Amino acid sequence: MNFCSQCGEKVRFAIPEGDDRPRYLCESCGAIHYQNPRIVAGTLPVRGDRVLLCKRAISPRKGYWTLPAGYMENAETTREASARETREEAKAEVELGSLYTLIDLPHINQVYMIFLAELKSDYAAGEESLEVALFAEEEIPWQELAFPTIERTLAHFFEDRKQGHFPLHMSTITPEDRERYFGSA
Ligand code: ZN
Repeated sequence: MNFCSQCGEKVRFAIPEGDDRPRYLCESCGAIHYQNPRIVAGTLPVRGDRVLLCKRAISPRKGYWTLPAGYMENAETTREASARETREEAKAEVELGSLYTLIDLPHINQVYMIFLAELKSDYAAGEESLEVALFAEEEIPWQELAFPTIERTLAHFFEDRKQGHFPLHMSTITPEDRERYFGSA
């Protein structure tokens, strides 16, 4: 952030009085511009023994496979956001189940929330997808998944499926996890 969204003057990045971390401060109008993590809501749509993945048509990670997920909008619930993203990216309707993975990514200020879901309709590539398809476990393109959050969610799912029990998995992705996933290039 360079300029104040309230008055247009230059902002400064510094710790406000009584605070414990730096914020964007406007000395002209006194505004403090707080920034907080963003929630990425999505689903793990299942039909029979297969799961639905979308091939990304947009950056980042264009051409890689992901679960339908995206940034939550104001005024919606996490469940509404995950169903909307599934509708937008996979043109699919789902019956939502329980929250399945909650993954903190503190180094990029995101929180992923992926819900279990049953696929209830046809599906097709939405605006942000090149292709949408169902995959059995042995068909999952593990080397072509878009993000470590997606890999982790799918790994939990196929492991839990052996027991037929799908508890909530809460975890954190660290910069080291991310480097391991993307390589150091
Ligand atoms: Zn200002």
